[in-house]
Amino acid sequence: MSARPILRRCVSCRQLLDRRLLLRVIRLPAKQVVLDEGMGRSAYLCASRECLEEARRRKKLQRALRCQVADSIHTALQQRLEESRAAASEAR
Ligand SMILES: [Zn+2]
Repeated sequence: MSARPILRRCVSCRQLLDRRLLLRVIRLPAKQVVLDEGMGRSAYLCASRECLEEARRRKKLQRALRCQVADSIHTALQQRLEESRAAASEAR
């Protein structure tokens, strides 16, 4: 018996996906924005370049989190995508 996936909506394409497939950005109570871990308002993004570009261009994360999101967050997300892509090609 497998656990039911927890679905979350990508801020860019609005698709509902398994939370484990999404990148998570969290606004901590101190208004700091972090990736992956933490308690606070969360925004989710597909692990795709298109959704990241869209989020960056249209300030989707800012809107979802209702605060400023530094460009370094977008850069970190982009790095994450490239790392996961590299890992996927190594697995092949
Ligand atoms: Zn998406």
